[in-house]
Amino acid sequence: MRTYSLGSVFKGLFWLLLACALAGLLVGQLAWALVGGLSLYLAWHLRQMARLQQWLSNHQNDPPPDTRGVWGDIFDSIYHIQRRDSRMRAKQQLVIDRIQASTAALSDAVVMVDAKGRLEWWNHAAERLLGLRAPDDSGQHVTNLLRDPRFVEYFEANTFREPLDIASHLNPNAHLQYTITHYGQGERLLVVRDTTRLHNLEQMRKDFVANVSHELRTPLTVIVGYLETLQDSEEPVNPRWKRALQQMQQQARRMQNLLNDLLMLARLENDNGLIEQNPVDVSQMLQSVTQDARALSAERYHQIRLEAEPGVCLRGAHEELRSAFSNLVFNAVKYTPDGGEICVRCWRDDGGAHVSVSDNGAGIAAQHISRLTERFYRVDSSRSTNTGGTGLGLAIVKHVLLRHNGRLDISSTVGQGSIFTCHFQPNRLA
Ligand code: ADP
Repeated sequence: MRTYSLGSVFKGLFWLLLACALAGLLVGQLAWALVGGLSLYLAWHLRQMARLQQWLSNHQNDPPPDTRGVWGDIFDSIYHIQRRDSRMRAKQQLVIDRIQASTAALSDAVVMVDAKGRLEWWNHAAERLLGLRAPDDSGQHVTNLLRDPRFVEYFEANTFREPLDIASHLNPNAHLQYTITHYGQGERLLVVRDTTRLHNLEQMRKDFVANVSHELRTPLTVIVGYLETLQDSEEPVNPRWKRALQQMQQQARRMQNLLNDLLMLARLENDNGLIEQNPVDVSQMLQSVTQDARALSAERYHQIRLEAEPGVCLRGAHEELRSAFSNLVFNAVKYTPDGGEICVRCWRDDGGAHVSVSDNGAGIAAQHISRLTERFYRVDSSRSTNTGGTGLGLAIVKHVLLRHNGRLDISSTVGQGSIFTCHFQPNRLA
């Protein structure tokens, strides 16, 4: 394709004017000949502009009008750009169609939610699992259609660190896992999986542990009762048996603690994430927990300090929160050498409410920290056994915090001590 530069445009204009000047000189009307030539030139350009405008507005997909010179060039260039764009668009559409087709074929529900929380697009599985109907539900706010309070709370918290597992609103026997991811400019992608099978298996495991713990509790209470009676008996006990009885009682107590912790965990896991929403005065609760810790420390003379901002109140379950804070404070007593310092703090700020328990005990090596909240995980099992630990305390803390949309931070330095901090989101403040 021949291209016309600005130089060639001026050259054309020059030759036209020269021809007009010569013709003007011949007839003795130089000025009129130049004016006439320029007018013709202008008229030609105006006509080409009008053709361009007409072509662009009405016949974009047709080949451009046939013309010469610089305008021919302009028409051809625009036509080429348009052809390239439409080829690109077709390719992109093909990719979009393929993505949509594959997403539509997914067995997991995929729902696109805009920055204002309104439904934009969903696949077939979303209709099956969530009961969404196209086109009626398009543009509706997601919480108008998925109204389970736990989902509403999860959606509005807008953090989405962990997936949410709840029963389906369409079929109470089915279980769904909701995962939300941020993308674009405030948009959210909701992926929902049917986890019924997994949930049923998990439920069987939980029920088994809960039932075994429950069944073992009664015989154990009887054994502990008899051991106490034997120890308190007036009749002289053979010295060889005395030590055996003491050890049996100690181990039976450990088993009782273990069963209590297992039952507590089973309870926390079993009530489907629904918790009480009573106002709990954390500052006051920590006062009584530190008093209990002082009693536990007794002759080990720990210095237990409480620095609690007054009036920090959370919405939640009193007993669960007490159990979580007690576990942290009692751990500090158990794992800090005699006379060590323990500080319990509680404060609130823009990030919500926070409770921390720090000690200057033995500390925990970095490789253990991420595993501490696993059930039965112990850093030093001989030490934990001596302290009567069950290995379930921090698992309970983690569960309680999860149920209150909180999180546990652990930082520790070997030889210097540890800090366990519970963070609660601002929407948990009462
Ligand atoms: P346990 O009943 O054994 O105390 P936990 O789940 O409460 O179980 O704690 C898990 C492990 O974490 C403990 O066995 C202990 O090794 C370690 N740990 C917990 N708290 C502290 C602490 N304040 N200082 C040092 N180690 C700790």
